[in-house]
Amino acid sequence: MPDNHRVLHVAAEVQPLIKTGGLADVAGALPDALHTLGEDVRILVPGYGGAIERARATARLHAIAEWPDTRLLETQLPGGCRIWLYETAAFRRRAGHPYEDPEGAPWPDNAERFDEFARLATAVADDALGLEWRPDIVHAHDWHTGLVPVHMQLARVPAATVFTIHNLAYQGLFALTTRQTLGLPGWLDHWEALEFDRHMSFIKGGIGFADRVTTVSETYAREITTPEVGAGLEGLLAWRGSDLVGIANGIDTRRWNPARDPALPAAYDADQPEGKREARSALLRETGLQAEETMPVIAYIGRLAEQKGVDLLVEALARIIAQPAVVVVLGSGDPVLRDALRRAGKARPDRVYARFDFDEAFAHRIYGGADMLLMPSRFEPCGLSQLNAMRYGTIPIVRRTGGLAETVVDTDDATLADGSATGFQFDGDDADALGETVQRACDHFAQLETWRALIDHAMRRDSSWVRSAKAYRTLYHDAFDARQRYLPPHL
Ligand code: ADP
Repeated sequence: MPDNHRVLHVAAEVQPLIKTGGLADVAGALPDALHTLGEDVRILVPGYGGAIERARATARLHAIAEWPDTRLLETQLPGGCRIWLYETAAFRRRAGHPYEDPEGAPWPDNAERFDEFARLATAVADDALGLEWRPDIVHAHDWHTGLVPVHMQLARVPAATVFTIHNLAYQGLFALTTRQTLGLPGWLDHWEALEFDRHMSFIKGGIGFADRVTTVSETYAREITTPEVGAGLEGLLAWRGSDLVGIANGIDTRRWNPARDPALPAAYDADQPEGKREARSALLRETGLQAEETMPVIAYIGRLAEQKGVDLLVEALARIIAQPAVVVVLGSGDPVLRDALRRAGKARPDRVYARFDFDEAFAHRIYGGADMLLMPSRFEPCGLSQLNAMRYGTIPIVRRTGGLAETVVDTDDATLADGSATGFQFDGDDADALGETVQRACDHFAQLETWRALIDHAMRRDSSWVRSAKAYRTLYHDAFDARQRYLPPHL
């Protein structure tokens, strides 16, 4: 058993090259943290047009393998970890959203592209491209890479496989005939393999075929074995038993650092938090919101999706701005939710500001300038926005579910006294519960000393990747050992 492993991460997005959500944050930050621990890590991602442009603009990019119309390009993360981009015409022409067209419908060739990507990952894992680097572990993320453990098993590649579920709600379901179109063997059509509800399921490849399956918090790991959250896969997930492990995400504390954030007007940290006032003033100027010092700035940053409980926010909005408080929203997604928020902003431009865009720098300015962050998610595998918020001294108000339940500590007399309080939690699935909790948070905001203490606790929370990266390293040891034990003799 080697002390350090060669680990190939395979993901459909990676910060800072291409991002639609938390997956990109993790696919960038976890490999970086593992690299710091001494693991030999590479990240394989699709070479979308935009990602290649971004890589070219920021770092050296060169081909390490070439075929007609296809190349494998190499660049590096700021921390030194190598990224390989698989450039094909099918990925290159996706300069916009990686999975959806501008109307929000899935790209028609998603199955073909991500199958091809999985085959390439398998070839890399088998060192079939002459890169003279053979991983011990292949760590695949989310449904887009669900076929990686399948192809690796079919090709008898000896590396151990780990599959991480970042969000079980996205499963990569395609017509059952897709299996045949992709040239995969017929036995995979079985419910014990890739068939799910008369469809072909990419995520079942990861869950059923990987040596170890992980998800991004311990709470969510338990929740997905129940019918309420398991999305029909609870049986398969429960069957994996102790092979299913929850490891909470961290955040990249270099990139999310109010003491060195070029997006902020002034630097601040837990010891000297004064700069947060300047960030708040700048945010108010930028958004045109009118808030006296006694009124909190309450933010929402994230996808406009049912999962995130944005409809509850819309419903509770009138009650929230009656506190008094102002609300700033940054999100993209569901047009119905977008229109409702747009109307609210038009009706009260002094109290509600909403921008419907994916804007990283604005997100940083909001985390810096806001006082509270809302996350009324119906379910939340881990959630990163609340971790970013705490790091910036912005107090999260969250529904008690998944990773939110275990990363935010609710404020009461006991948690305030022992210094563990970092936010506010609520139960229930209705706008009243959210409204009441916002009110509770506003009551605490009015008590200056209490609020200062909360900011201090939140900012000092250790959300770095170190602890989680160590947990993944232990898991790699286990997966590697298990694979050695079960390796067929001819390998
Ligand atoms: P998700 O379910 O979308 O992955 P997470 O909370 O795990 O939710 O991660 C969301 C990440 O994406 C956070 O880093 C958040 O700041 C960022 N994000 C979400 N929406 C936007 C947006 N519209 N503009 C900029 N950043 C965003």
